[in-house]
Amino acid sequence: MQAPPKGGTPWNWGFAGDDWNGVDASGRPWRCLSGLRQSPINVPPLSVRRDGLLSSVLNLLGSGGDETNEIPRNLRTSWFYPRLVSNGSNVEVINNGHTIQAEWLSPFAADVQIAVPALQFNTATVTAVLSMDAYDPAVRVRATPLQFHFHATSEHALVGRYFPLEMHIVHRVTGLPACDAAGGCIMVTGVLFELGSGGDNPLLEAIWEAMPLREGAINFLRAGADIRLGDLLPPLSARNYVTYEGSLTTPPCSEGLLWHVFLQPQTISQAQVGVYGTCDKATGDTYICRLRPNKEGVRVWMVSAACLRVTTAA
Ligand SMILES: [Zn+2]
Repeated sequence: MQAPPKGGTPWNWGFAGDDWNGVDASGRPWRCLSGLRQSPINVPPLSVRRDGLLSSVLNLLGSGGDETNEIPRNLRTSWFYPRLVSNGSNVEVINNGHTIQAEWLSPFAADVQIAVPALQFNTATVTAVLSMDAYDPAVRVRATPLQFHFHATSEHALVGRYFPLEMHIVHRVTGLPACDAAGGCIMVTGVLFELGSGGDNPLLEAIWEAMPLREGAINFLRAGADIRLGDLLPPLSARNYVTYEGSLTTPPCSEGLLWHVFLQPQTISQAQVGVYGTCDKATGDTYICRLRPNKEGVRVWMVSAACLRVTTAA
């Protein structure tokens, strides 16, 4: 059992999913069971272009039917993250009992930009970007990274395939009046990791080294170590992604988030996966992922997965 999240229902999710209902701190019901735009999803097969690359698709959850829809180059999201160098006390690695999360206490001059409709009436939400086409006038707004964290195994699946690790970079969208008025919009970028044969992923080493095994513990990244988030993304030539309107993957499962999930996995070693697993065990908890049908029930490939946190007797 975990402490209630600031007045809301505690997260004590059972195997049978019988406690998926709850309320947030303000008494509003969670959307985990009733939502129609829930994350994560099982990304469906995408059309294959003549060059053999998977094309990016837009608005998977929209009303446009099952056809894929490549995002015009001028409307694609761009990511730039400078190196984040630790001075020994400015980058934290946190075990919050659900995930391992990295946060920074010093400025991080990242430049992530999303194209949104230029017309004000279309920018009521950040997800209005999903209904744009190549001919719509667009402006670019910034998304500022707040933290990144990991899930093992992955939450998203690609055509039914799960991965040993998924990284989520959580951004707040800035510079869009509708988001400012709503108290902020969230954009999440997902990066999948598959087992590689080339040994440990050096880009994860510093974070893994600082990973606290005990729930509630916080470690600083070693002085001199750096985080190269940009290098943890696929190379510029392979940044195909799916983008869709989804939700938080944990209660209250709030919707209206803009998701990007890269289609090219990065690599992680079996040893690194093992370390992450050790960390979970140290909390006395097991993470179990399950599938549940999407409530729309129309497109059978669309399923939402939820990772249940099951507390074992300590
Ligand atoms: Zn996440």
